[in-house]
Amino acid sequence: MSGTTDNRKDPGLKVIKENGQQESYLVLSEDERAKEFIRPVRRSYIHKECGGVTHMNQKIAETYARDPYFYNGTFCAICGKHFDLLENGERQFTWGDGTGVGE
Ligand SMILES: [Zn+2]
Repeated sequence: MSGTTDNRKDPGLKVIKENGQQESYLVLSEDERAKEFIRPVRRSYIHKECGGVTHMNQKIAETYARDPYFYNGTFCAICGKHFDLLENGERQFTWGDGTGVGE
């Protein structure tokens, strides 16, 4: 399980572990996440390419809910690597309700 940090200079953001995940992931601060969510808090997404479901940490889920545009890319647990959210204008990941991750 990777950690999370709200420090953009955390060295763990640049460290890739054996399983392909970063040592830590950037999230919005607790104060920022305590504000209004503009999207539902969703804990998993589907990678269109492989159809696999990836579950995420609550703080990352809340960061997406507070700011859907916060991340440019994300991890697929099935493929074991990171992908851009948008490729050739197409959303690469979707939430369970079919809407795109990052919109
Ligand atoms: Zn995948």
